[in-house]
Amino acid sequence: MPAKSELLRLIPKVDELANNERIVCAAHNLSRQIVIESIREKTEQKRDEILQLKAHEQAELNVDELIEAIILAIERKNEMNLKKVINATGVILHTNLGRALLDPSIKEKVWEIAESYSTLEYNIRTGKRGSRYDHVQELITKITGTEAALVVNNNAAAVLLILSTLAKGTQVIVSRGELVEIGGSFRVPEIMEQSGAKLMEVGATNKTHLSDYQKAIVEGETGALLKVHTSNYRILGFTEEVELIDLVKLGKEQGIPVIHDLGSGALLDLRKFGINGEATVHDSVHAGTDIICFSGDKLLGGPQAGIIIGRKSLIERMKRNPLTRAFRIDKLTLAALEATLRLYLDPPKAVENIPTLAMLTMPLITLEERANCLYGLLINKVKHCTISLESGSSQVGGGSLPLQDLPTKLIKLKPDNLTVEELEERLRNSPIPIIIRIHKDHIYLDVRTMRDSDFGYIVNTIKANCSKAC
Ligand SMILES: *Cc1c(COP(=O)(O)O)cnc(C)c1O
Repeated sequence: MPAKSELLRLIPKVDELANNERIVCAAHNLSRQIVIESIREKTEQKRDEILQLKAHEQAELNVDELIEAIILAIERKNEMNLKKVINATGVILHTNLGRALLDPSIKEKVWEIAESYSTLEYNIRTGKRGSRYDHVQELITKITGTEAALVVNNNAAAVLLILSTLAKGTQVIVSRGELVEIGGSFRVPEIMEQSGAKLMEVGATNKTHLSDYQKAIVEGETGALLKVHTSNYRILGFTEEVELIDLVKLGKEQGIPVIHDLGSGALLDLRKFGINGEATVHDSVHAGTDIICFSGDKLLGGPQAGIIIGRKSLIERMKRNPLTRAFRIDKLTLAALEATLRLYLDPPKAVENIPTLAMLTMPLITLEERANCLYGLLINKVKHCTISLESGSSQVGGGSLPLQDLPTKLIKLKPDNLTVEELEERLRNSPIPIIIRIHKDHIYLDVRTMRDSDFGYIVNTIKANCSKAC
């Protein structure tokens, strides 16, 4: 074994590596600082490895491998942290993977606003200051059939703004069956506390009657009746909840506004696609609800936003609340929201183009064809792996339709030479991470949430990683 000092001498100098042809080529267009930093990091790491060698350990210095490692480090440093992944989990509104995807057809519209000055708060007709909310207000009221609309950062902000405006310092009555927690610490009781309203729980977890609300109302103290959609759970069995229409009637009799936190906000009726159990925005509007709020990036299929609709006089009060400024929607979001809402002017086109709706309503026959296609590619190319097709189900996710079973066709994988956990880790760490499901010691891929244009990459990545020894 060569002496350590000899090995250390064999490590090329930083300048020499910086001029190495392959490194120069990989570093094309990158700052010299990143290149030098990566070279230092990798050569120092190598030096440490050599110094820590024990007397009996074999050592060698492979300069090619060192250069490979430097190139990889340069590429990693130059990569965005926030980047594309392939969602093979079959969970459509995957909160950790960014919820709703935008329709590619709106790309230019969003980018134009990003790179140009715009009419964001400028009224072209009068040449005076305008309101950023005007761009979507008319569209939203037209699509939903309401008087007024306001948009903020997300639905959590919408709920807080509504309660803070309409019910600060008063009592808000909510059913005990609706004290929802949404992932990421949105809890109805806590939001209520933040808003300055006082939570008045009524009924039991499984049953709440209209009389429970009636008995809880105190004149001069009750500020609102709140109904919260149990987005991510259902109470089944011996249950009863008060219909929105009855709650609205009670509110009208008592002169108390009824607020509906609808959560996911389906703008179209999905029942004709076999998707049941999600009240639509229209259902809530038709019931006569005073104020309704929902997310932009759940079943609506747009960017992250909170949409508030309802009575004009109440929405005007919200616009004057200083929180509206703090929850102000960004211009890129606004552009993406307007462009997405415009697709709803032609509902069949909306279902076809908005990725969330297209994935949700994709017929089983199409899923089977796509799964067969991916299966064929995998069988042809991938060695050292058992591959089969299996029926299964996808999930809506994102706190929507928790009981909805969406039948799908899954690709099932079991690598011969590594564990499923090892393959999962490799797929997750590939240049475009592939996120999969593991179930009963098998890997599952669901084509519902994947793009056909990603199939080639998926096949090559699985192929490369199954043939590599552990
Ligand atoms: C998802 C959800 C929220 C939070 O919405 P975000 O847009 O994620 O802030 C609030 N309430 C209900 C009922 C929900 O389903």
